[in-house]
Amino acid sequence: MYIELTVKTTSREQLVNITEQINALLAAAGVKEGCCTIFVSHTTAAITVNEDADPDVASDLLGFLQKMVPLKGGYSHREGNSDAHIKASLLGCSLHLIVREGSLDLGTWQGVFLAEFDGPRTRLVKIWVD
Ligand code: ZN
Repeated sequence: MYIELTVKTTSREQLVNITEQINALLAAAGVKEGCCTIFVSHTTAAITVNEDADPDVASDLLGFLQKMVPLKGGYSHREGNSDAHIKASLLGCSLHLIVREGSLDLGTWQGVFLAEFDGPRTRLVKIWVD
């Protein structure tokens, strides 16, 4: 089963918790269990699982990536957003998760985050459940 989720980001760099939106789409589609592939079809955004209890975790992750991959780094790419491309590759563009009892089977402190590195933009998240 194929499901799409559109996410509008509001700043250049941002981690958007999309766990509840995905769970709502799974429930609306009547999915009870299966394997869920979640794919972000962009080159300057990514997807990751991390703690959703303390928002400082998300801001620390973004801050660490900014230090590791600065905005201006002597890159060749003419568009001027090489840092965003590199950060997107570091986190990756897909996840493979378990669906059980009608929702994502995550750990207590885990959430699914769309990672925006060149926003604000409208991002498409593609979900396949089998
Ligand atoms: Zn670019």
